[in-house]
Amino acid sequence: MSDTFTVTLPSGANWTPSFVAALDEEKCIGCGRCFKVCPRGVLELVGLNEDGGRVRVDPDEDDGDEEYEKKVMTIAHQELCIGCTACAKICPKKCYTHAAAVLEPSD
Ligand code: SF4
Ligand code: SF4
Repeated sequence: MSDTFTVTLPSGANWTPSFVAALDEEKCIGCGRCFKVCPRGVLELVGLNEDGGRVRVDPDEDDGDEEYEKKVMTIAHQELCIGCTACAKICPKKCYTHAAAVLEPSD
């Protein structure tokens, strides 16, 4: 049977980090809130253009000179996620799916 990755905190309580697993680009409005609260640089804002191309976008820039149709957040570095779920808590559109990590049984 597999176990879930769990951490024992200094208080003695157990905590199960919930790592970012997916982001629904259809629901995302590109507001950038999740980007601002992520402590680990996991996320990247991109602009989608007409033919499906993607360009990196600075979340702090206004859209004055845009070359894209729509902005969406993407998971650029999933491996850096610490499972804090701050991104999901602040997202106004419920774009995120998170999951605990499953530990492979050791032999
Ligand atoms: S769970 Fe935390 S570390 Fe992971 S992407 Fe969201 S805000 Fe960043
Ligand atoms: S907070 Fe939600 S809606 Fe806003 S950019 Fe992030 S994923 Fe998209």
